[in-house]
Amino acid sequence: MKKLLFIFLSCLTTSCCIAQKLSTKAVLSNSSFSFEKHQAGHFNYYYAKDSEVERKLDSVIELHESRMTRILQILKLNEYTELIDYFIVRDLDELGKLTGDTTVQGKAIPEEHLMFAYMNAEANSIGGHEIMHIVVRDIWGKTRYGWMEEGMASYSDEKWRPTGLHNLANQLAKDKKLVSFSHLLMYHLCAVEVRYWQTGSIVKYLCEQYGIEKVRQLWKKGLSKAECIFGKDRETLEREWREHIKGHDDTVR
Ligand SMILES: [Zn+2]
Repeated sequence: MKKLLFIFLSCLTTSCCIAQKLSTKAVLSNSSFSFEKHQAGHFNYYYAKDSEVERKLDSVIELHESRMTRILQILKLNEYTELIDYFIVRDLDELGKLTGDTTVQGKAIPEEHLMFAYMNAEANSIGGHEIMHIVVRDIWGKTRYGWMEEGMASYSDEKWRPTGLHNLANQLAKDKKLVSFSHLLMYHLCAVEVRYWQTGSIVKYLCEQYGIEKVRQLWKKGLSKAECIFGKDRETLEREWREHIKGHDDTVR
């Protein structure tokens, strides 16, 4: 398990997106693929015979149940009763062919309770990120603020390669790559480090300092309503967050 987690943290790269028009039925009707199915915990796992997933299925299940537990703790939920269909293919090439999207490492379709990742002996994109996309959309509904969706999803895994989110954000600060809070609405035009690490660090900070209920309000209303949600304006929040991340080692491992 620990080894698998390390592989995940070491190899996960930054691309993910939320897509539309894919369904479990449509995916299963793709004649280029043949899947084994195994239901465990919160997931229906779909994977190829003799694949790395099949060989390490117990560890894969354990990892995702632990991620689901963390996500429920973050969101202060007692349980999550939906079953998620989870396709784990062997590499990025297969992921692109199956989803029709060659630009991502993982994908979630919240409305369908459907998610995708890849896994082989050298690399994988499994973990909590896509799970959070699905669960948070289920309980909070859609948000107009894409940076929050990616921030919540990035926060669900806490560390990337295996460095903490605040450490990564501090590194971005040193490199002068952070964007101001007022630019987060345009986050999708920013570098991948900003889209995942900075947004994840901000969400982590706000969750830990102010609590999940205020973050839920932010999900609905956006940073322009920061004063009414947090009792301080957007610029003050940004100054606080930047000060906070300074206290974290900026070494990216
Ligand atoms: Zn994502």
